[in-house]
Amino acid sequence: MYQLKLRMARLNITENDKKWDKAGYSESYHRGHEVYTADNGTHWYYKDNNELAEVNTTENSKIYDRPCKRCGKMPTREGYDYCLGKIENVDSACCGHGVYRGYVVLRSGKYIRLPRGILKKKV
Ligand SMILES: [Zn+2]
Repeated sequence: MYQLKLRMARLNITENDKKWDKAGYSESYHRGHEVYTADNGTHWYYKDNNELAEVNTTENSKIYDRPCKRCGKMPTREGYDYCLGKIENVDSACCGHGVYRGYVVLRSGKYIRLPRGILKKKV
């Protein structure tokens, strides 16, 4: 379960978004791009061209990243969403990539959705 949670965090998937069926198929988003898995999240593929988006096995863990669909930029070298950058005292954050409202998770664990429109300005 921890592995799955970690994977979900990396792909910016929240508990509510996952719709696993019995065959291990699920759909979600990665940086605003639609992705799917057919093996319970071991391999994720981009829906538009079936290219690999992420591999997550015990031997191999790799993300084949794409630019954020909202701002068109790759994450910063430190791994932050380009349109958010580094935010102090925050555990994790996501701009929403034009699909979701963005959010930040404070060190305390408190989850805060970013107000609608706060990231409207094109970066
Ligand atoms: Zn962005």
